[in-house]
Order: sequence, then C-alpha cells, then structure tokens
Amino acid sequence: MKLTELFSRNQLSLSFEVFPPKNETTFESVKHATEEIARLHPSFMSVTYGAGGGTSRYTLDIAKQIKDLYDVPSLAHLTCVSSTRETVRERIRDIKSAGIQNVMALRGDIPTELQNADRSHWDFRHAIELIYELKESGADFCIGGACYPEIHPESTNQKEDILHLKEKVDAGCEFLTTQMFFDNNLLYNFLYKIREAGITVPIIPGIMPITNANQVERAIKLSGSFMPQRFKSLVDKFGSDPAAMKQAGIAYATDQIIDLYANGITGVHVYSMNKPDVAAKIQSNLSDILGK
Ligand code: FAD
Repeated sequence: MKLTELFSRNQLSLSFEVFPPKNETTFESVKHATEEIARLHPSFMSVTYGAGGGTSRYTLDIAKQIKDLYDVPSLAHLTCVSSTRETVRERIRDIKSAGIQNVMALRGDIPTELQNADRSHWDFRHAIELIYELKESGADFCIGGACYPEIHPESTNQKEDILHLKEKVDAGCEFLTTQMFFDNNLLYNFLYKIREAGITVPIIPGIMPITNANQVERAIKLSGSFMPQRFKSLVDKFGSDPAAMKQAGIAYATDQIIDLYANGITGVHVYSMNKPDVAAKIQSNLSDILGK
C-alpha cells in the first residue's frame, strides 16, 4: 500500500522505524526485533539506509520481510550523496523488483573527509536529484523526504531551508517526515511557516523516545535539537537509573505524541531504534486513542 493512501484516510496513524544490521552477525537479532515490532501491526514501518551504502541489501531484505511476512506497509530509505548514478539506478531497480512502493528519498550525510571537497562533479548533491531519478525510473513509487523543524544544520537560515523543501515537494515528494524534536511548539511553528510557503503535503512528525542518558548527547549531536528544561530535568533526575530513565523517556515521548494528536496531527513516526519493548509500550500507552 502506498503511504499516501494511508495518510488520506484521516485516521490516526502510528509508525515505527528500524535500522538494518551492519553485518551478517547481527542480522538475526535485527530480524527478530523487526518481527516483534511488526507484530504490533503499526500503520507502517520504515527501514533506514546506511549512508555509505554498506547496508543497502539489508535495508531491502528487511523492508520486504515487513511487507511480505507481516502485511505491514514498509518504507525503504535510500540515500544518494556517496553513490554514483549507476549504483543508485541499480538500487532503485532492486526496490522496484522487491515490490516496495514507498521510498524515503534522502541525500545522506556528507562523510567528514569530503566536507570540503569540490562537489561539482558529484552525481548527487541533494535529495531532489534522487527524487528526479526515482521519477525517471518509471516505477510508480510513493516518495517521502526529510524535513527539519529546527533547520537542517547546513542551512544558513530557515527561509532558504523551506525554499529547498518546497522544491523537493514540487519535484514529487508526497510526504515529509521530520527530524526528531523535543518541544512540540517548534513543530507547530514550522508547520505554520511551511504551509505559508505553499507546502501542503502530509507532515509526519518523528519522535525519538530517549530511553537512556547516553542517547541524549548523541541525539543532540546528530540532530542539533533543542532540549527543553522539562526534558533536561528528567535526564538529571533519572539518568543514572536505567529503568527509571526508560520509563520517563517513554512517558515523555507518549506525552509529545498525545499533544500532537490533540492538535490535529494525524500521523506520528516513532524512531523506535530496533527496540520492540519501547515500541510496544508507546503503542499500549496510546491504545484507546488509536482504538487498538
Ligand atoms: P537535502 O534535502 O538535500 O537537504 C540537505 C541540505 O541541502 C539542506 O540544508 C537543504 O536546505 C539544502 N539543499 C537542498 N536542496 C538544495 C539545492 N537545490 N541547492 C542548495 N541547497 C539545497 N541518513 C541516512 O544516511 N540514512 C537514513 O536512512 C536516513 N533517514 C533519515 C530520515 C529522516 C526522517 C531524517 C530527518 C533524516 C534522515 N537521515 C538519514 C539523515 C539525512 O540523510 C541527513 O539529515 C542529510 O544531511 C540531509 O538529507 P536530506 O535528504 O534532508 O537532504
């Protein structure tokens, strides 16, 4: 099923993300975690893609498994910046042959050693070029893209960032999933600005449940997200007690999701990070709201 069909139903949706194994050794454990999350019958599941392409085969295998074995719509991520046009075309053909209809078109992070490289000869510099490639493939994909309520770290200002986002949507991106954020007001403010800029596609907020204190630093480094005092207090108080931190982090994420639903958002994506227990707890916290 195409995700646009799901979003047009105007029902609340909750979806989860998994990331593929880095190598064969961890494949079985990721497969098992995926299976457990799929058994919750979320609205859809996404599978991330290693920026260097190292896990591309696994992304596809897992996305196919979700769709074929558990009848849960899957969304396969694909990045382009470190790849040649030929490789990207091959990946697109593989996605098509696996019968996967939903693709998250991403640029990927620029590897540190290439940060200052001359990019003029690169086959792909921005996600929009991957969207063009997906469109030109002739396959009828439902294409998603990423967006950043707190601005992409490389953007000089939000106006410019939103301008490029609009170009991505005009190129064929049919929905946008957000970077994680910990203050819903940032999302509401962003929504106002993008709607004003003429971006009307569904926006799926991405919520990251922080379940251990070590994750905090990594999450901020990765996303540049603002940490509200309410969240910082929670980490200060419970960070050294793993069970309490997990409970508090899940409660915080649940609270964010309830507030989003209460304010008119119909689809929320949870960065569940291969943790079936976290996904299950969040879903059960929302059982009456979701009617599950
Ligand atoms: P783009 O849309 O290309 O934007 C990147 C920057 O370039 C922005 O500053 C934008 O304003 C600017 N820009 C865009 N178009 C132009 C243009 N035409 N001219 C000039 N500037 C332009 N990474 C992975 O490796 N694997 C994943 O599976 C993955 N999944 C993700 C899922 C979500 C929901 C999010 C939010 C991020 C994900 N990422 C993933 C990280 C993502 O690859 C990085 O954030 C990356 O730095 C940007 O990707 P993008 O697709 O947003 O890029």
